[in-house]
Amino acid sequence: MSQGFFDDDALFDTVTSRPQRDPSRLLADLTEPQRQAVTHPGGPILVVAGAGSGKTRVLTRRVAYLLEVDHVAPWEILAITFTNKAADEMKRRVNELVGGRSDRMWVQTFHSACLRMLRAHSDVLGYQAGFSIYDTDEGRAEVERIMKELHIDIKGNKPRSVLSAISAAKNAMLTPETYVEVNADPKREMVAEVFQRYESTLRRANAMDFDDLLLNAVRMLQVSDDVRDRYQQQFRHILVDEFQDTNGVQSEFVTILGGYHHNVFVVGDADQSIYRFRAADVRNILLFSERHPGATTILLEENFRSTQTILDAANAVISRNESRIPKNLFTHKGHGEKIRLFAADDEYDEGRWVVQELQRFRNELNIPWRDIAVFYRTNAQSRVLEEQCIRSGVPYRVIAGLRFYDRKEVKDVLAYARLIVNPRDDAAARRVINEPRRGVGAAAQSKIQNYASDRNLSFAEAIGSGAMAGLTGKAARGAEQFDELMSELRALANDLTPGEIIAEIAARSGIMKELLDDGSEEARSRVENLGELANAASEYENLLEFLERLALTADSDQLDSEAGVVSLMTLHVAKGLEFPAVVITGLEEGVFPHVRAMDNQAELEEERRLAYVGITRAMRHLTLTHAWSRTQWGRRVDSLTSRFWNEVPEELVHDVSARPPLRRSTFAELDYGFTGRDSEFTSGRAFGTGSAQEASRSGADLLGLESGDRVHHDRFGDGTVTSVTGEGEKQRAFVRFDETGSEKQLVLSISPLRRI
Ligand code: ATP
Ligand code: MG
Repeated sequence: MSQGFFDDDALFDTVTSRPQRDPSRLLADLTEPQRQAVTHPGGPILVVAGAGSGKTRVLTRRVAYLLEVDHVAPWEILAITFTNKAADEMKRRVNELVGGRSDRMWVQTFHSACLRMLRAHSDVLGYQAGFSIYDTDEGRAEVERIMKELHIDIKGNKPRSVLSAISAAKNAMLTPETYVEVNADPKREMVAEVFQRYESTLRRANAMDFDDLLLNAVRMLQVSDDVRDRYQQQFRHILVDEFQDTNGVQSEFVTILGGYHHNVFVVGDADQSIYRFRAADVRNILLFSERHPGATTILLEENFRSTQTILDAANAVISRNESRIPKNLFTHKGHGEKIRLFAADDEYDEGRWVVQELQRFRNELNIPWRDIAVFYRTNAQSRVLEEQCIRSGVPYRVIAGLRFYDRKEVKDVLAYARLIVNPRDDAAARRVINEPRRGVGAAAQSKIQNYASDRNLSFAEAIGSGAMAGLTGKAARGAEQFDELMSELRALANDLTPGEIIAEIAARSGIMKELLDDGSEEARSRVENLGELANAASEYENLLEFLERLALTADSDQLDSEAGVVSLMTLHVAKGLEFPAVVITGLEEGVFPHVRAMDNQAELEEERRLAYVGITRAMRHLTLTHAWSRTQWGRRVDSLTSRFWNEVPEELVHDVSARPPLRRSTFAELDYGFTGRDSEFTSGRAFGTGSAQEASRSGADLLGLESGDRVHHDRFGDGTVTSVTGEGEKQRAFVRFDETGSEKQLVLSISPLRRI
């Protein structure tokens, strides 16, 4: 795995080990247009170029050049990267180059740069130090609560979509008032009302959501001349990677900050704009020259990453988009291998074949696991791939949402930690006021909420006034205990390290005791998780810093280039990365392009850009797969090949799927309940060799099962049939098992199933 600038190791090492640094080393291995960009004398500059043409490399190199040759001080540079990981990597390189001075350089994501400024000056907007950052779930919960308060039907208007409407409004820099002015229909008026309350709820809780971080930073720069002057003068150079995925607020942030020195350096590729759903606006690239008069534009046309075959495929696909400026990417890397295609029967067949492909990369082509990646359109597609990797012993890592930090016990302890830092954090207070139980149930909580609303307090603040809010007995005592616990923890927090505070929270809140009393295997692993959380916290200077890092970590930050494992990730996460060997799975209409995009031209073009991003991650080997049928939303549906698959010219591909027996071998695999080693069904021996006769038969297909019937399965226990499809030997049923609550699809003729 690499991120464009990793291969600069050698260069930086050479530079640092020389007593006399030679700046020409910074330029020696660049093409002429790349060199022009790196040595640009000043003023706004836009580097637009296709994937793999060295944009990220040029940006990193320019930072080094500014420090080395132009003698710009580290703190005069603001470099914006797309993930914290990329930021860390850049800092490390620069550190090697200029030593400790680079600590003062701002290499950030948009969100972390905004947060850093807000931490220092948010008082100009009326926030207190230590404000909380609400994640999307917390924002949605607030919206839902507000909608209920306003008696708005939450079935007809989903809180999630109301929150996205609010988010879109914020990204367009609209306030609740200006939002309705744009177009006053009843729906918008409803959203505006929720929006208004949402804003004041967050204010009272001394909290911001992700959109606020950007928006408030811009507002702060607009309203405070002092703050604006300070940063405008400080940042002599501003550099932004992946500029095509900035939204209006981010672009405004850059424009304001660059308003004094005008040294704004942005790199991007309009064909890789894939965050429209988060309000990214590719027009920011197109309008750059207008917003920054006198801007220089540099085009890079040579791709240094991929083979010509991969590049031709990418170009063929993206050229179908109508709203784009044609580009001419070429490489000197030669044609390389053809792109391999495999059409699978279903997702299990696909998963199994993909794992064989991974083994081929490694065993026949000597590509280490870490240099291989598998992409898919949606997170859910990883499950089957993971199962197959586990089965075959292929080490992998899913680069996805922060699983560990999503665990309940971890979130609970973190909520206490947030309340220590921000005593007004409502989302955190609601989460743990009764966790572990202290008698402050829903009724008591709504009394506290009413008391708070009447007095314009946050919910969290009102907890201390339990008795006045009308709480009695157990609930009143519980609220009081909680209030005392928080004061105690806040006092402790002054003297303890973040790791120690986490441990104290677990102990004093009673969370640890509850888990230890439980004593189950599950509870033990939760205890271990809390230990791990304390370990993670101990790497930070203070609690606030730890919490911030958690709030702002992006998916691809989890990539660990050292680990010898295959990386599994969605196409969105793959942006900016490169791998010698790549497999893209699930190339089916409705999967990729995603079903939501199918009848909208603009969205379809965005999906196609995503395909372009995926294909252009591959350096030497690219494999595409699709399945003729796939389970979606619990139902098996037949699929058509993705249009993107068909758009790759035939002469570039080698179809390896024309092997008829495979269609059968997968039949046994369908019964994915039987994936354990001990199962006689795992081998798929009968179906795999093409003879159905040898399979162990259960006769469950003769039971005449219908939806609603109760059944017993030898391994999974009792369950209820939710649906039956197909006939005869191929008859399949979906059964929801009582114990796990999960639904499994079973091929009845071989499932050890009976009626109960
Ligand atoms: P993306 O659009 O995918 O973000 P990019 O334009 O940022 O791609 P980089 O990641 O910077 O491209 O570069 C792609 C690869 O090409 C990297 O491995 C990089 O080190 C290499 N590369 C870039 N320029 C040169 C060059 N002049 N000589 C050799 N290798 C280069
Ligand atoms: Mg890049």
